[in-house]
Amino acid sequence: MKRSPLTSLLALACLATPVVAQEDLPNVTIFATGGTIAGSSSSSTDTTDYTSGNIGVDQLLDAVPELSEVARISGQQVANTGSFNVDQDILMDLHGAITEAFAGDADGAVITHGTDTMEETGFFLDLTVQSDKPVVMVGAMRPATAIGADGPVNLLQAVTLAGSEEGRGRGAMIVLNDRIGSAYFTTKTDTLALNTFKAIEEGYLGRFLSNEPYFYYPPAEPVNKPSFDISDIEDLPRVDIVYGYQDVDADAITAAIEAGAEGIVIAAVGNGNIPDRMNEAVEDAMANGIPVVRSTRTGNGIVTAGTDPGIGSGIYNPQKARIVLMLSLATGEDMEEIEAHFLGAL
Ligand code: ASP
Repeated sequence: MKRSPLTSLLALACLATPVVAQEDLPNVTIFATGGTIAGSSSSSTDTTDYTSGNIGVDQLLDAVPELSEVARISGQQVANTGSFNVDQDILMDLHGAITEAFAGDADGAVITHGTDTMEETGFFLDLTVQSDKPVVMVGAMRPATAIGADGPVNLLQAVTLAGSEEGRGRGAMIVLNDRIGSAYFTTKTDTLALNTFKAIEEGYLGRFLSNEPYFYYPPAEPVNKPSFDISDIEDLPRVDIVYGYQDVDADAITAAIEAGAEGIVIAAVGNGNIPDRMNEAVEDAMANGIPVVRSTRTGNGIVTAGTDPGIGSGIYNPQKARIVLMLSLATGEDMEEIEAHFLGAL
C-alpha cells in the first residue's frame, strides 16, 4: 500500500527521540584533539589530501545542533593535530583532563581524535582511567568539508553513548560507522574505508539504531585485562617498535637501546618469530632489565610464548603491546609482572 505524505510524517514523528528537559540530560565533556573529523579541504570531493586538525572544538559542536538534545556539552581543546602527531604528552594531558572531569560532574567523556592512532589512545585510556563512566573515542574517515562527511553523525552517536547508562562499565570504546568497538580489541584495518575499525576475532560490542546504542552483551571484562594507576606518574618511558622481515638483523634493537629505549617491541613475523641473528641482542636486553616483547606484523592472532628469547605478546598487536610495556615500566613492575600481562591469557 502506498503511504500518504501525512502517514509518513506521523510515522516519522513516532520514531523521533522524545524531547528531554535540559536539566535531565547527562553531562558529557568533549576533549578535542584534531584528526580528520576536524579536517578541512577546499574541495568537497577530497578525502585524501585534506589537512587534519583544522577546525576547533566550537565549530565541531556547532555543526551538530542535535547534540543539545542528547546531552549538556562542554568542550575542551586538548590538541588540534593529526593523530600521527599524538605523543605521550598529549596522552598524559588527556588522562589528567578526563580524570578531573570525572571527579566533577561529567557523566561521560568523548575524545575526538584522528583515526590513525586512535586505537592507541583509546587503549591507553582504557587501561588507565579509573572509572566505569563511558570513555568514547570518535573520529571520521572523511573531513568535515567532504560531501558525505561522517564526522557529524559519529559525534552525535559518541555523545549519546557517553551519556548513556548502558555505556557504563564497558571500558573505553571506539565509535565510527554506526558501530561500537571496544578500544581494548579494536584496530584500524583499512587506510581509507569507512568501516576501518574492527576487532577481527572479538567483533563489535554493539551498534546504533536511530542514534540509540544497542549492545549485544551486558558489560564484561576481557580475560587478564590490566589496569594501571598512573595518578602519580608524570612521564612515560620510551618504548620503541622494531619491524621484522627477511634479512633483518639486530641493529635496530641496539640503536633503539642506545637512543634510550627502556623496552622494545618487535613486530615480528608469524607467531612472533625472529631470526636467529637477533637472539643475542634480545637475550642481552632482557638480561639488562630491558623487556623485549615479540608481537606480530600479521595484523591478527595470538603470539604464544614460543622458544625464541623475549616475551610473546599474547593478544596484543605491536602498538598495543608498546602501550602495555610503557605503562608497566612507568609503574615500576618487574620482569615477572611484565611477562604476566602478555602471557597470562595463554
Ligand atoms: N590522518 C588522520 C589522523 O589520524 C586520519 C584520520 O583522522 O582519519 O589524524
